[in-house]
Amino acid sequence: MVSENTAIAKLIAHLAEMASRKTALKLGYKSQFDYCISSLNLSEGAVPARIHVANVSRRFPQLLVALAESSISLTVAALLAPHLTEDNVNDLLSDCAGMTRRQTEEYLVVLKSKPVFEPSIRKRPSSGELTAAVPEPSPRDKPAPSPPIVETPKSSPTILQPAREEVFNFRFSADKGFKDKLERLAEVTGVENAQKHMAEVLEAALDIALEKKDPKKKLERRRKRQGSTTAKSRSNEISKKDKPAESRYVASEVSERVHERDSYECTYRGPDGRRCTARVGLHLDHKRPFGIFRSNDESIMRLLCPAHNLLEAERVYGPAFIQQKIAERRKSR
Ligand SMILES: [Zn+2]
Repeated sequence: MVSENTAIAKLIAHLAEMASRKTALKLGYKSQFDYCISSLNLSEGAVPARIHVANVSRRFPQLLVALAESSISLTVAALLAPHLTEDNVNDLLSDCAGMTRRQTEEYLVVLKSKPVFEPSIRKRPSSGELTAAVPEPSPRDKPAPSPPIVETPKSSPTILQPAREEVFNFRFSADKGFKDKLERLAEVTGVENAQKHMAEVLEAALDIALEKKDPKKKLERRRKRQGSTTAKSRSNEISKKDKPAESRYVASEVSERVHERDSYECTYRGPDGRRCTARVGLHLDHKRPFGIFRSNDESIMRLLCPAHNLLEAERVYGPAFIQQKIAERRKSR
């Protein structure tokens, strides 16, 4: 009988192999996560640990062996994964064999002790403003020459929860700059008491941002402006089609129509026809490489999500060339 751990090890080996070949993307899934949910029917909670261990096992296949032999559980493998190095992998796996989650956590604490005080999220009080809420430093901290500098993070993890039907609770932290902008927007949009009517002010901000950034809105506006396309502009478009384009800049009008035609979703299809439906960070891609065909015509443009855009670029130009370009761009920044 195949033990549960052997089955998990096999699944993780499968995921690791898929990740190295980008198979999920090639099949038309948005990501490895999407593949695990849609194709393997794993629960959302079960996926992150499996993907994490799969990624780390590409470097440390010993993890898979330990899992298959049931010397460690998946939970323990996921806990150990971020701590593994070439030097410690064998020791860690043998030390933690048979351990529970809690025992492994305690083992890892000894291995890499955490700072006793977590950095505070609150704004750093100015000198003389220390209140009773701030704990006194412990005696062993006293010799420190000055209090630690606590930076105010720009934002914190956000919470968005349904409150009741059609109503949601939003909760997040933001810096003073955000608060100042919110109050200024309330002033210019004529909303009295920004704090009380935050949803109204934010909705105004969202409307303005969407008006400016959403290709759907831009297209609606353009159509209103132009009325129906005249015969003259149609004939202009046809004559433009035949001339080689001078730059890869795609006119916003073309971009908007491609977005509409492609339903504002990635158009990548896997070999079995499965279409990726990602909607975030879409790129306008030349189906025929611009360098060769010198055309920005609507019929050869399509929408791709960032992952499929990269996959297609690697297919056309080769992974080594694309990785070199990415490295060059990073350097120049
Ligand atoms: Zn995609």
